[in-house]
Amino acid sequence: MHAEIVVLPGDGIGPEVTAAAVAVLRAVGERYRHRFTLHEHAIGGAAIDACGEPLPEKTLTACRYADAVLLGAVGGPKWSDPRAKVRPEQGLLALRKALGLYANLRPVRPHPATLGAAPIKPHLLSGVDLLVVRELTGGIYFGDKTRDADSASDVCRYSVGEIERVVRRACELARRRRGHVTSVDKANVLETSRLWRETATRVARDEFPDIVLEHQLVDSMAMHLLSRPRAFDVVVTENMFGDILTDEASMLAGSMGLLPSASLGDERVGLYEPIHGSAPDIAGRGIANPCGAILSVAMLLRHSLGLALEADCVEQAVSAALDAGVLTADLAPARAASTAQVTAAVLEHLTA
Ligand code: ATP
Ligand code: MG
Repeated sequence: MHAEIVVLPGDGIGPEVTAAAVAVLRAVGERYRHRFTLHEHAIGGAAIDACGEPLPEKTLTACRYADAVLLGAVGGPKWSDPRAKVRPEQGLLALRKALGLYANLRPVRPHPATLGAAPIKPHLLSGVDLLVVRELTGGIYFGDKTRDADSASDVCRYSVGEIERVVRRACELARRRRGHVTSVDKANVLETSRLWRETATRVARDEFPDIVLEHQLVDSMAMHLLSRPRAFDVVVTENMFGDILTDEASMLAGSMGLLPSASLGDERVGLYEPIHGSAPDIAGRGIANPCGAILSVAMLLRHSLGLALEADCVEQAVSAALDAGVLTADLAPARAASTAQVTAAVLEHLTA
């Protein structure tokens, strides 16, 4: 097949892990005879430096016409002055909005070789395989905000349509997994959560009779994620709850550096990025874990290009590299491999 893929390296360790991901993407193309045309563009701080804005028109246009977008990370201390008019993160928010990406998928599947790195007892973690689907366009992050001398407010708002589409996406994903969806809300207190629960219940009942839907309050869900993470398959929730729960869930895997994500809408184009940020503390040293970025390539192949076999192949290559003990410093400080060594190990298994 032929696919047009936009690559946005971004800031900090973004370019380092993106280079690893691109090498893997090219190797997949060669091995399976696909023609992947890659277009590199600027976003975030790098784009502010180059042309004064975090999402240049040229970058946005390229993304609109692409089959998929692969992103590193944006942000860093150089651009973090709170008085600055333009900030790197605005570029990413604007891109997600412009592409209509409303569902953020974060799979968490702790690998046997890295169980020891997680702050949770290994026996609770083996067999954990969950997928958090976070709503990305609504809720309190986007509602009206007010501020006066001694008070402030943030409005949390959701429409039925916004809830329906993300719940539908979660149920579709569950169909290809274990058929179980946990919808997370705070329906005992919040009106938006009552609407969320009613809507999720109706969508699952009317359109997905084969799916088992359960509801959890967000506070108890925060506890269950740590005490019985194996009990969950697909977890769907609104924007802020998802933000918090996905960071929590990521710790089940042992390191932020391991986890990929996909942001999807109704069009074919999706945005794929590791869940970690630009990690300025380790940028430029060649020690960042590239696995989250490489596994984001697997998600890109599966969700935007429909190449499930190739996606499995990338995931197995990462798994084999971890099994072989080729681990970066976040996972094995005492005997750490570099970004380049981990990438080479993945490539070796991919082409074996
Ligand atoms: P952002 O605001 O962009 O999400 P953040 O403040 O959450 O960023 P990160 O940049 O994700 O922070 O980094 C958090 C910590 O995790 C840092 O100590 C960083 O070095 C480490 N870290 C993040 N990504 C990786 C990686 N790929 N490999 C190794 N360590 C990483
Ligand atoms: Mg963060």
